[in-house]
Amino acid sequence: MGKMEKTEEFEHTLLSNALDYLEHGIEEINGINPSSLKYAVLHIFSGTILLFKQKILQESWSLLFKDPSQATKVKYASGDFEGINYNSTISIIKNICGVKLSRSRLVKLNELRNLRNKMEHFQFEVTVDLVKVLSSNALNLAIKFIENEDLKSEFDEREEELFQEILLTARNFDHFCEERLGILKEYALKNDKLPCTCPSCFSPAVISEDGEYKCHLCQEGGFDLEEIIDCHLEQVLGISEYEIVKYGGEYPNFDCPECEARLALIPEDMSYKKYVCLSCNLEVESNQIDNCSYCNNRFVVSDDGGQLCPSCP
Ligand SMILES: [Zn+2]
Ligand SMILES: [Zn+2]
Ligand SMILES: [Zn+2]
Repeated sequence: MGKMEKTEEFEHTLLSNALDYLEHGIEEINGINPSSLKYAVLHIFSGTILLFKQKILQESWSLLFKDPSQATKVKYASGDFEGINYNSTISIIKNICGVKLSRSRLVKLNELRNLRNKMEHFQFEVTVDLVKVLSSNALNLAIKFIENEDLKSEFDEREEELFQEILLTARNFDHFCEERLGILKEYALKNDKLPCTCPSCFSPAVISEDGEYKCHLCQEGGFDLEEIIDCHLEQVLGISEYEIVKYGGEYPNFDCPECEARLALIPEDMSYKKYVCLSCNLEVESNQIDNCSYCNNRFVVSDDGGQLCPSCP
C-alpha cells in the first residue's frame, strides 16, 4: 500500500509535539510564577496523550478518527478531523495496541485529567505538591511508555535531548515523593498512626489528626471519613460500588466496635488477614471476626466468645 508523502511528516510532528509539551510542562512546574502551574498540568497531560496517539498511529492512522468510517487520507494529512477522546485513546491503546498500563498509574493520570478539565472550564484550587505528584506520575508513565513501546528508535537528535531532560526531571520528582513518604512512615510508626490512601494523589500519605484527614504528600486536606473509606475500598481492595451492586456482593467493611465509626473497619489489604479501623486505628485479626448468629451482621468476637453481636439480645 502506497503511503502519501505527507504521512511521514505528520508522524514526525506528532512525536516531537508530544515531547515538546512534556518539556514545557516541566519548565512550568519549576517556574516561579504560580499561574505557570496551570500550564504545567495542561501540557504534561497533553504530552502524555499525544504519546499514546503516536502508538495508535503506528497501528493505523484511521484509528485516530472519532468515526473511522469517515476517515480519509486527505482529512488525515490535513489534520482537519474530529479525533478520538481520552477514553477511546486509552481503550485503543489497551485493546488494539495490546499495551499494558498499570491501573494505579492510569487512576492518577485520570486525576490529572480531572484537574486539567477544571482548569480549562471551571475554577480550581490546587497545591504545588499535588501538581508535582500527579505530574511525576504522568512523566513516569510517559517514560515507561516511550521505552517499552520503543518510540525511542524514532527519535531525532532534538527529541533525544528533550527525552533526557524529561528523564532528569521525573527523577527529581521521584526523590521529592520518596523523601516525603519516608518521613511520613517514620512519623506514623512513632505515633502509632496508620497512613490511608489519599483520594487526591492516591499515595498512602493521609494521616488523621484530631479527626481531620490530610495528605502529607500532596498537602490536600479536608477529606471526610467516608471519602477515605471509599478510596481504600477502590484503590487498595479494588472494589467499586458499581461492581458490588452489579454482582450482588457485600462490602467487606463494617462498623468499628471501638470508636463506633460507621463502616470504618476494613481489610488492611487484599489478603484480608487483618482488619483496621480507618478512624481510630484499631487492628483486628480476621479470625476474631464472626457473623452474629441472630442478625447475621459481622462483629468482632470478644474474649468471652459469645455468638451474638453487641446489638443483639
Ligand atoms: Zn495526596
Ligand atoms: Zn475505630
Ligand atoms: Zn446481631
